[in-house]
Amino acid sequence: MANDVNFTVGARTFVLDREKAEQAFADKKVINGRESVFFNLLPLKYVWAYELYRTMKANHWEPEDIPMQKDIEQWQSENDLSDVERWIIRMGIGYFSAAEGIVGDNILHVIRERVTAPELKLVLGRHAHEENIHADSLLYMISSLGINPHECEAMFEDVPTITRKNEFVMKVSRALRKDLDLTVPENKQLFAKNMFMFGQCMEGTQFYGLFGMILALYRQNKFPGIGQMFRYTLRDESNHIELLRSLLMAMKDENPEIWTTEFKEELRGLMAEAKELEKNFIADCLPVNAVGLSVDEFSQYIDYIADRRLEGCGLAPLNPGVSNPFPWLAEMMDIKKEQNFFEGRVTEYQKASALSSVDDDEL
Ligand code: FE
Ligand code: MN
Repeated sequence: MANDVNFTVGARTFVLDREKAEQAFADKKVINGRESVFFNLLPLKYVWAYELYRTMKANHWEPEDIPMQKDIEQWQSENDLSDVERWIIRMGIGYFSAAEGIVGDNILHVIRERVTAPELKLVLGRHAHEENIHADSLLYMISSLGINPHECEAMFEDVPTITRKNEFVMKVSRALRKDLDLTVPENKQLFAKNMFMFGQCMEGTQFYGLFGMILALYRQNKFPGIGQMFRYTLRDESNHIELLRSLLMAMKDENPEIWTTEFKEELRGLMAEAKELEKNFIADCLPVNAVGLSVDEFSQYIDYIADRRLEGCGLAPLNPGVSNPFPWLAEMMDIKKEQNFFEGRVTEYQKASALSSVDDDEL
């Protein structure tokens, strides 16, 4: 019928009334769109969000799938590990235990709360769930190794270079919890800043100091279980960075008035601040020499990562031309091609979610 429009998601076809579908589509916005208690995914407007949701779901993993026997043996042995290596693991578990919680809370209570299109809420819900998985994996590490959880918490609260990283991201989170009027341009910018800070500065840059340390140990066959979990976590993080990047870009396209030269400079300034905090943290807490890395290279690595994040958001790099001093780290983060014990499980999850691609050409 002329007034109907077919909408296909995988093997399923839905017939929607054309006029209503077009109206619903037009009313979908990142912010200030139609508020509805119904979860109207159709017609899909932000196809990238739905596609990303499916990619994230296909990467599903559970901590208990990863054996910890070797890690436990190493942790308990007298000669296999140095104190510094144990310190790195404690630091990694302590930092991420709190940081993953902060990210999940912001995704759920700030970002997901204020975006209006259901497919955006869908993928943000998955993001929050992945932070739960990460938190759970840290709990699994703590219990496997018999680490005192309070010792890890104390690290987060008492180490000034960590506290500063924490305060840096929290400052754009608190104000947004109130009923902030998002039709006001300055408030829109505050919200956009939150997406940038959490996605690009925190998950995208400040997580990488410790990720690098733990994967450097993993590369030396130390803590294979923990290393494997961090590799899966990193794969998830790369989707979170992409999600918040795409969300920020969609918000900018719909609200071009926020994207002023001044605002772009402000975002670049925030990244510069984030890098500074990360470098201070590395100098203060991470014995990079102990894992065979140099402070200068590590610092360059942070510069390199930060510039990739800026460019992803259409912002000018802070250190143009800087190269990646750790190409092995990039390889280790790309686990798509790898064959391992986990492959079977991942394939199963992927099959379960194997829908053919969404066709929104009709709209
Ligand atoms: Fe995470
Ligand atoms: Mn994350």
